[in-house]
Amino acid sequence: MKREKEAAAEQEEMRPVPGAAGGDTASKKGKLPERIQIPAAVEEIIRRLNTRGYEAFAVGGCVRDTLLGREPGDWDVTTSASPQQVKAVFKRTVDTGIMHGTVTVMKDHVGYEVTTYRIDGEYEDGRHPKSVQFTSDLREDLRRRDLTINAMAYSHETGIVDAFGGLEDLRAGLIRCVGDPMDRFGEDALRILRAIRFSAQLGFRIEQETWEAIGKIAPAIAKVSKERICTELTKLLLSARPEQIGQVYEAGISPYISQRFCQVDVGRLKAGGQDRGWPEIFSQLPARKHLRWAAFLLREEEAAAVEILKDLKLDNDTIFRVRTLVRWSDRPIPARKADIRRAMSQMGTELFADLLLLRAGEPGVEELKGSAGEILEAGDCISLKTLAVTGKDLLEAGMAPGKALGEELARLFDLVLEDPGENRKEILLGRLSFRKGLTERLDESQKPGGCAAESLSEDR
Ligand code: ATP
Ligand code: MG
Repeated sequence: MKREKEAAAEQEEMRPVPGAAGGDTASKKGKLPERIQIPAAVEEIIRRLNTRGYEAFAVGGCVRDTLLGREPGDWDVTTSASPQQVKAVFKRTVDTGIMHGTVTVMKDHVGYEVTTYRIDGEYEDGRHPKSVQFTSDLREDLRRRDLTINAMAYSHETGIVDAFGGLEDLRAGLIRCVGDPMDRFGEDALRILRAIRFSAQLGFRIEQETWEAIGKIAPAIAKVSKERICTELTKLLLSARPEQIGQVYEAGISPYISQRFCQVDVGRLKAGGQDRGWPEIFSQLPARKHLRWAAFLLREEEAAAVEILKDLKLDNDTIFRVRTLVRWSDRPIPARKADIRRAMSQMGTELFADLLLLRAGEPGVEELKGSAGEILEAGDCISLKTLAVTGKDLLEAGMAPGKALGEELARLFDLVLEDPGENRKEILLGRLSFRKGLTERLDESQKPGGCAAESLSEDR
């Protein structure tokens, strides 16, 4: 009974939107559905917790995204049950962050994070709360969340629980902190980057007070780990508005990410200048990590680009790809097919195609694309793998193993890049340099008056 009364009071205070069926998901601002679709597994988790007498809701990003008609990346559940109680309800669980109240419930090999309502304690270092305290009050749990649009909960039974004006901000397209933005950013400065990232992902404006707080608290970003910063910057670059990475600079936080990062010339990269602007470059790029990072760093020196990426702890594969693309980003566009084949073989066909995307719109790139297509269609050899001779062939032809053999193979490969018609075993074996003198003399001997036997003996 007490629980019912409390729940009723809670609902009133939290401005719930009754769970009336029939609202369809709408992605347009101002037209938000009242009932949202939740995956069957999440529904079941909530129902089973409810059956045992606990409150449970889908919460945070999944509610925000579903209301906007976007596909949520993950579904999180918040509950009044303690981690031990959650573990007692479900057969398969993983202790993901039990100290912080999180248990992952496994359903059909998919994990759903179920976290006990909690209040975050004091933040020690702008990174982690020193302690967390469990609570039975959903409102307290929503209060610890960063942005109003991320602080809503939902269940079919209760509908949307919106304690901090998240729905209004979703409708208005606003990014706003829950509570005092100075305090919230002070507790965890990553929230600054999350605010900018969501603004880019959703096309929302950052509300004035929140924006001003970002400017004031900017140095606190230095306390955030590079990995967390990198995750946010990557999400921003992969968003529908990657050029909004400019906001990171406008907000004044870039010097606290790294000195080198701060020096990226973002002014030059605005649309309308002599150089092609970011919006233009980004608009033709698929949302792939290395492409978006390469576009961002396109006009940097290769060494600077690598320094920035290493400092942000990006993975080696991405660093390699970005580095290659940046290296080739201002090289003259080759006109001869032989040089195009050389470029393709050096970069690999995949990165070469990426380079065409990055440089689309530059003079000569359309023609380059046409020629590259013809090269691929013709099946020209652009990789050592399809060279008509192998190291083994050269050994059999009498070459000694070692460095010279590798150099010889590279030389033959270059002959083939120049003229793909050369890519036949008998031709290439005839072009071996240690046989060159022999071949020339053999040719000579076939002329009238020549002496093959003499040449051969000399060669031996
Ligand atoms: P996405 O999954 O698209 O990256 P998200 O908002 O769902 O965005 P998650 O990391 O999945 O982000 O976090 C789930 C929820 O946890 C958030 O919606 C928010 O309510 C809360 N949250 C996440 N990070 C923070 C933070 N640094 N400070 C406060 N609350 C946070
Ligand atoms: Mg999420």
